[in-house]
Amino acid sequence: MARILIIEDELDLQKVLAFNLRQAGHEVLSAAGGREGLVLASERSVDLVLLDLMLPDIGGTEVCRTLKREPKTNQLPVIMLTAKAEEVDRIVGFELGAEDYVVKPFSVRELLLRIDVVLRRSRTNATSPATVSFGRLRVDREAHRAFVDDRETELTAIEFKLLLTLYDRQNRVQSRASLLDDVWGVDANVTTRTVDTHVKRLREKLGPAGDYIETVRGVGYRFADSPGEGPA
Ligand code: CA
Repeated sequence: MARILIIEDELDLQKVLAFNLRQAGHEVLSAAGGREGLVLASERSVDLVLLDLMLPDIGGTEVCRTLKREPKTNQLPVIMLTAKAEEVDRIVGFELGAEDYVVKPFSVRELLLRIDVVLRRSRTNATSPATVSFGRLRVDREAHRAFVDDRETELTAIEFKLLLTLYDRQNRVQSRASLLDDVWGVDANVTTRTVDTHVKRLREKLGPAGDYIETVRGVGYRFADSPGEGPA
């Protein structure tokens, strides 16, 4: 559930999007032009922007550039809606810092999935202090180093990401499928069994701190909400 701003001048599409986003449990704000969209983005607390590239007043690229420049909105994730894949590839990747894009005509289902991924990612980034200190565990995010009782434990890149993904949603159960999406990526060719294997190895490497990762039978995994708690 998030508050999503749609900036799109094709009113039919705007309405279809708004309807589907509400169905998916989101709150929706709509603007038919870039100027109005920028005002809404800076005045209302919005979690994500769907931004059409071709707008009547200010173009989507300019809107995106402005959003990413202003301190009030520069953390706001943007998904571009565009008619042409090739032009937006360059724009999104190098110039504007948009998080993702879809090419019209797109399936609403696909868009909803992309929205979920972008929202999850942005929430994690927003709440991440540089160093994690939890009971016997200490993690330096930038240096990619983990310590248990002040002794370093060597983690692979995937194990490191898995640990932080679990930690950042402390006390919330992560299903194997969502861990696959977040740690390995949506397109990765791995099975949920892979998640179990990696969690097992991660726990072994963490030794006593491995107990902080709890198994929720039949669902997935959860990082304990306090270091005092043992495994589930
Ligand atoms: Ca348009």
